[in-house]
Amino acid sequence: MIAAPLTDDLRTLYQEVILDHGKHPRNLRIVEHHTCKAQGNNPMCGDRVTVTARVSPDGVLEDVAFEGKGCAISIASASMMSEALAGQKVAVAHQLFTAVHDLCVGKIDADQAKATVAADLGDSIDKLASLSGVRQFPVRVKCATLPWHALISCLDGKPQTTTEK
Ligand code: ZN
Repeated sequence: MIAAPLTDDLRTLYQEVILDHGKHPRNLRIVEHHTCKAQGNNPMCGDRVTVTARVSPDGVLEDVAFEGKGCAISIASASMMSEALAGQKVAVAHQLFTAVHDLCVGKIDADQAKATVAADLGDSIDKLASLSGVRQFPVRVKCATLPWHALISCLDGKPQTTTEK
């Protein structure tokens, strides 16, 4: 299924969300006592993001944070990711990664993304859907998904990842 094109109102709202998180990123730090750490590289744009997380023995992401330099989209995506996933289970991180990826490539829209994740993530999807504006720009899709690739690497115990594989 192809997602509907964005309306001008929605596009403006999405730009505001990205600007807000890009200028004032949340959780821009290293997680204390982190249990995993991974660096993601997007050479196409020059984005570099290091994600740290603390996972409890029963598989809950107690804290997620990031450090790095990159364009507004990569930083906003990392910021929203860290907010969305704190307190969630590792399995939810994988679900949300898939939803964000499919949003960014234009495979699904926000409502379809909500149907694939737990109900309490609806608000997070509303924010993360702002990244779906990148669907017209394939290079930007890598900016938006970079922090998520880094997070999944982190959870998989792999210290490095790149968008160029
Ligand atoms: Zn970028």
